Amino acid sequence: MAFQQDCIFCKIARNELPAAKVFENETLIAFLDINPIAPGHLLLITKHHYASLFEASQAAAGDLGSILPRLARAVCRGVEAPALNVVANTGREAGQVVDHLHWHLIPRREGDRLFGPWPHRAYGQGEQESVRERIETVLLSD
Ligand code: 5GP
Ligand code: ZN
Repeated sequence: MAFQQDCIFCKIARNELPAAKVFENETLIAFLDINPIAPGHLLLITKHHYASLFEASQAAAGDLGSILPRLARAVCRGVEAPALNVVANTGREAGQVVDHLHWHLIPRREGDRLFGPWPHRAYGQGEQESVRERIETVLLSD
């Protein structure tokens, strides 16, 4: 299990720092975010250190995903919220502060305005196909 000496979440994974855990198995831990944006705001991490989703293996992502339905139900029933968002801030521009792979599970309630309305817009002429092609090309080479 790879870890980094000065990584907060590696320290939590190795029990060197305390955390309010709700779930733990051989490879994963889920615990309450220390500064929640809603009560019950959970962090789900791999014990193995990956800096972000960009570095994660397909197996690690599958592992994280496999526990999501149970955790999602538990969070929402536990804090009596009707909905939630699962978010992986990936990179500084996306708001990632802790460089250890983690997914946020954030309980949502009507009118909480936690993520505001998204600024949707339409694609310009030919833009959608060009964007689709570029993504597909990278995907095929990865
Ligand atoms: P990011 O912005 O990297 O996606 O989110 C990191 C999250 O980790 C933040 O929401 C922050 O509140 C949480 N966090 C940072 N340090 C600790 C800690 O020591 N313990 C816990 N439980 N959460 C932390
Ligand atoms: Zn780490």
